[in-house]
Amino acid sequence: MEQLLGAHTSIQGGVASAILLADKLGFSAVQIFTKNNNRWVGKPITDTEADLFKSRLHQSAIKFIVSHDSYLINLCASDKENLQKSRTAFIEEIENCKKLGIRYLNFHPGSHGGNGEEYGIKLIAESLNEVHSLTRNSGVSSMLEMTAGQGTAIGYSFEHIKKIIDLVEDKDRISVCIDTAHIFAAGYDIKDAQKYDSVIKEFDNIIGLERLQCFHLNDSKKPCGSRVDRHDHIGNGFIGLQGFSNIMNDERLKNIPKILETPKGKEQLEDLENLRILRSLIKDHNN
Ligand code: ZN
Ligand code: ZN
Ligand code: ZN
Repeated sequence: MEQLLGAHTSIQGGVASAILLADKLGFSAVQIFTKNNNRWVGKPITDTEADLFKSRLHQSAIKFIVSHDSYLINLCASDKENLQKSRTAFIEEIENCKKLGIRYLNFHPGSHGGNGEEYGIKLIAESLNEVHSLTRNSGVSSMLEMTAGQGTAIGYSFEHIKKIIDLVEDKDRISVCIDTAHIFAAGYDIKDAQKYDSVIKEFDNIIGLERLQCFHLNDSKKPCGSRVDRHDHIGNGFIGLQGFSNIMNDERLKNIPKILETPKGKEQLEDLENLRILRSLIKDHNN
């Protein structure tokens, strides 16, 4: 089977428009926002829009779809009101996913704002337990995205993710996404082939590869260990073609969907170029 590849796609014109654009661009894996990602409250998705979305998805060649949550949500916010807003908004995100038939909601674990990592980790798990119990039978998995560790962000180490998962009651509701720019900035060297191999082994030992359900493929404008999150086009950044070749040729990861979040214009033609480069790195053309 061909690897599932695609990019974050704009929902300008409505969520159903994203499917048309993604399919036109030949994506087999897609990420979308289900609402304006810089607002707390989104326009509700109508039944008509949801039906159109699902029928277009069904008719398309897209085999994997994930939603990315709003950037405002912080499941370990130190401010009580902000925390409550975040939990409510996260529930709405899950409900949007359910309505659209999207099985994964990708999110950044959160920023503890000075209260410490242990505090943040516990609060994130508490938030997840609450939102999961209020959205039973949604069939939506909360996908923890690894972060670069900017500021007081949690999720820049495999241990953080493992600790959160350990505290989540409904383990069937949890999955993990590796963002290559984020883990590289966090200090995981995926450029060097040997170090790359030990990073994946370490992930497997600490979290378990069965939890890994998605990759965000982004090159990094910042060096390894910089803890700064800046995405670059594939091959242009510090990870470079060698780093992406490691991933594209890794048998352990060949069934995991891979999605670009690199800079793009309205037509998303840059995505086509980045995907062409990624495909060109695959050594065994039979997979
Ligand atoms: Zn993200
Ligand atoms: Zn990402
Ligand atoms: Zn990022």
